[in-house]
Amino acid sequence: MLLSSNQNPNDCYDVVVIGAGLGGMTVANILARSGKRVLLLEAHNKLGGFATYFRRDLSQKRSLQIPGLPTIEAEENSHHIFDISLHGFPFGMLKSFRRYWGEAISKLIIPLTDIRFINPEYSIQTSYTREDFTRILSSHFGVREEVVQSFFKRVMSVTPNGEEDPQIPVRELFEEFFPGRSDVVRFLMEPITYANGHTLEDPALTYSIVFANFMKHGIYTIQGGTDLLLTLMREELLANGVDIKFNTLVAKIEVEVNDNHKSTRGVWVKDQLVQSKVVVSNANLLSTIHSLVGEEKLSLALLEKSRQVRLNNSSCQVYIGIKKAHSLPDMGDLVFYSTASHFDTNLLLSDKISSRTFSIYYPRLRPPHGRYTIVASSNARYEDWSELPPSAYESKKLLMVKETLETLEQLIPGISSHIDYLEAATPLTFERYTHHQKGSSFGTKFEGLKVGEHLSQEIQGLYHCGSVGIIMSGWLGAVNFGVITANNIERDHFPLSYP
Ligand SMILES: Cc1cc2nc3c(=O)[nH]c(=O)nc-3n(C[C@H](O)[C@H](O)[C@H](O)COP(=O)(O)OP(=O)(O)OC[C@H]3O[C@@H](n4cnc5c(N)ncnc54)[C@H](O)[C@@H]3O)c2cc1C
Repeated sequence: MLLSSNQNPNDCYDVVVIGAGLGGMTVANILARSGKRVLLLEAHNKLGGFATYFRRDLSQKRSLQIPGLPTIEAEENSHHIFDISLHGFPFGMLKSFRRYWGEAISKLIIPLTDIRFINPEYSIQTSYTREDFTRILSSHFGVREEVVQSFFKRVMSVTPNGEEDPQIPVRELFEEFFPGRSDVVRFLMEPITYANGHTLEDPALTYSIVFANFMKHGIYTIQGGTDLLLTLMREELLANGVDIKFNTLVAKIEVEVNDNHKSTRGVWVKDQLVQSKVVVSNANLLSTIHSLVGEEKLSLALLEKSRQVRLNNSSCQVYIGIKKAHSLPDMGDLVFYSTASHFDTNLLLSDKISSRTFSIYYPRLRPPHGRYTIVASSNARYEDWSELPPSAYESKKLLMVKETLETLEQLIPGISSHIDYLEAATPLTFERYTHHQKGSSFGTKFEGLKVGEHLSQEIQGLYHCGSVGIIMSGWLGAVNFGVITANNIERDHFPLSYP
């Protein structure tokens, strides 16, 4: 059931999940479906974590003046819904949704077929599949067909337990197949960097897995938007008997120490200890270790390893609502637009934004009353925003909005006069709404995975299932991480229901 703000959870559950991101919700759903008593606690007032949306009702006519741009007039009695992280995920999501969330949810998945790259080096339109990339690499970039095929063979055959050396940086993989071809590297790498902050120094293994996932069948989205998805997920969780409590920021996981044996006792919800022998944290790995569990409960070796775990970078976004009466031409579903002369991950992170992904949402995404909206995303560093005094922060945000509109004007001349709503998010916004340290968009980097796995070996009943780049983050990674975690919990604690 959905617990209201003045309703306390029961005293005891089989499993408590902290955080209702895609990973946390998936653990909760699978375990509840197989009969466990599950409590899902979420700090925010809705499900989803990063997989979220916001709605703005423009009930009153108001205007926004950005220096140097036409006045933005909001329309009366109108609204927009903006998706935060629904820019695209691999086809594998269909299988994961069908199996672990049911047929109705999996049926929302539809392909995005028009992906565009526009930058000073090239302008390309693609369906983002292996076949189309093979064509483009050969015909546009002039790479020999055998080289393209052997690159794909290598990338598509990489598995976490395969023979490839996981330590090779992706830079070396590209150098091996496309020596000196920075334009090809940009084409293959830029979307993955946008998608999860991957750099040329990250392991080729993780790049290959993510890239191959997309190349198998292209990029997919949810018809109906994140709001419909989360409505159905909530119904499914409640139908399976999960207790959900929003607006609940868990401060502590209670750990019992007996001689050398440590185990979870439950979590503190304000001053109530909700008992449970199994606790799953969907929160950021570093917050889980250093705040929720507490350093005193963990070995020095694990703490030392956790200090070497790096956070992924954060993001900025500008949300653009288009007036009801105006329609946009087909200009692609995702447009990777850059004014940078060459690909450089430092440039992508810089606050002098030169590269943006425009996600264009057409009314067909939310039938029957969908509206045109555009979300411009760019990678960002937390420090570039967190250290500013309030007035400088606001000015910088306005400047970002203005520059985004100027860039959008290059794509759709005259668009500024058809906009009726504008809003922007920075790394501080992401930190505020998800509690990820430094607003990290994809949690921690890949080295966090081993540290997270180690938690249940040190403390019986404690699991982490939350964004660990790169394989275990993103929509598909988070859901699959939830599946793996639920299986591990069944195996370790409920062997009778373990398949
Ligand atoms: C701007 C942006 C764009 C993205 N675009 C894409 C995309 O196009 N495709 C894609 O596949 N992925 C994308 N992602 C990434 C993707 O959304 C995430 O990797 C994924 O949703 C993370 O799921 P998660 O299970 O790790 O949980 P999270 O989404 O990290 O959720 C964790 C939840 O835990 C809650 N929480 C944290 N601490 C506590 C606490 N102490 N008590 C209670 N609750 C707590 C938080 O409030 C949050 O709801 C994007 C991310 C961002 C930021």
